[in-house]
Amino acid sequence: MDAEVFRAWITRAAEVIEANRDHLTQLDAAIGDADHGINLARGFSAVLDALDALDAEDRRPAAAMTPGKILILTGNTIISKVGGAAGPLYGTAFRRAGKSLGNAADVDLPALSSALDAALAGVQKLGAAVEGDKTMVDALAAATRAFSKAIAEGATQDEALSVLVEAASAGAVGTIPMQALKGRASYLGPRSVGHEDPGAASTALILGALRDAARTARLPRCGTDRAGYRSPYCGALS
Ligand code: ADP
Ligand code: MG
Repeated sequence: MDAEVFRAWITRAAEVIEANRDHLTQLDAAIGDADHGINLARGFSAVLDALDALDAEDRRPAAAMTPGKILILTGNTIISKVGGAAGPLYGTAFRRAGKSLGNAADVDLPALSSALDAALAGVQKLGAAVEGDKTMVDALAAATRAFSKAIAEGATQDEALSVLVEAASAGAVGTIPMQALKGRASYLGPRSVGHEDPGAASTALILGALRDAARTARLPRCGTDRAGYRSPYCGALS
């Protein structure tokens, strides 16, 4: 996976967060302060602007960037534009993942797995949440664990990324019966039970965007691949 895939990831993540902005905000309205979708949509929109600004600079076009630099720029921009809990946490996650990738021009599955592990470690160092606390950690930890297991078992890239996304989504849904022990939702005590954690839900969406981007990048123009998957960028089939 090269810089083009990582740029496509961030672009797709911005799209899905924007499309789910109200949904994420409603999840946060139930157990927080109704700003999660708004916060993240603003952050990712700023990230797209930052990448576009690099394109406009002849000496450092974003297309010539490495995957690691794209993720570090993403993290730095989110930290500077998004307040609350999720801004620093997501910013740290992207920065740690970017640092883990180093200067590599191409990222294989083990390198991506290490980067996601680094992102999780960064989130946990900053937020001190463990699995079961009803936070984004429940989605991210389940996803990284399933991803490295799938890779160890010889999964293809698309299989491993599908496992990653399914585990993240299951992790997010798994927060519904939990009582929040970290973050703003923890103020509600037992009343936080019965609602999906917004940060876990957005984590599943962002990892879904990674799978989409990796699929799209290997498509020959706007055809379908052998599994019948068609890029979301290519419009409806006529
Ligand atoms: P805020 O809670 O400051 O309004 P957001 O609404 O943007 O920030 O984000 C809330 C999300 O942040 C929660 O749903 C949860 O997933 C995540 N979160 C909050 N605190 C922590 C923490 N200590 N560790 C990990 N994630 C956390
Ligand atoms: Mg909030």
